[in-house]
Amino acid sequence: MNDAAQVRTETPGTYAAGPLLPGWHTLDENPHLLGARCKACGTYYFPKQVTFCRNPECSGEAFEEVQLSRTGKLWSWTNACYAPPEPFVAADPYEPFAIAAVELSKEKMIVLGPVVRGVGVGKLRAGMTMELALEALTDGKLTWKWKPL
Ligand SMILES: [Zn+2]
Repeated sequence: MNDAAQVRTETPGTYAAGPLLPGWHTLDENPHLLGARCKACGTYYFPKQVTFCRNPECSGEAFEEVQLSRTGKLWSWTNACYAPPEPFVAADPYEPFAIAAVELSKEKMIVLGPVVRGVGVGKLRAGMTMELALEALTDGKLTWKWKPL
C-alpha cells in the first residue's frame, strides 16, 4: 500500500454534489491532483489511468498512484469566451473564465485547468507561480482550478 492510499477522498459536507471527477484529486484543504508514476522509469502521468508507459525507451507496465505537485509555473493561458459543450454546466448568463496551462514544479509536466473565479486573463503573467485549488462549478460539483499564489 503506498502513501496515496491514505489520501482522504470522501466528499466534504460543504460540497454536497461531490467531485466532478472522483479520484482525480484529493479533497483536503491543500489539494493534490492524483497521478501515476511508472515504476520502471519514473515518468509521471495525469490522468492516472495508463496501461503501458508511453516513454519510447521504457517497457514498463506497472504504475503507482502519486500526489502531484500542488504548485507550478504558468506556462500559457487562454480566455474561454464561449461555454464548453455538455456535460459542462455553464453559468447563465455565461461568464468567461481563464484556462491555464501550468508546468508542475517537480514533475515538469503541463496540466490544464480553469482559473479560479475572479481571476481573468488580465491578471495572469507567464512564469507566475500557480497553486492548485478546489472550487465548485455552477452545478455544485467540485473540481480543481489554478490560482495565482
Ligand atoms: Zn516507464
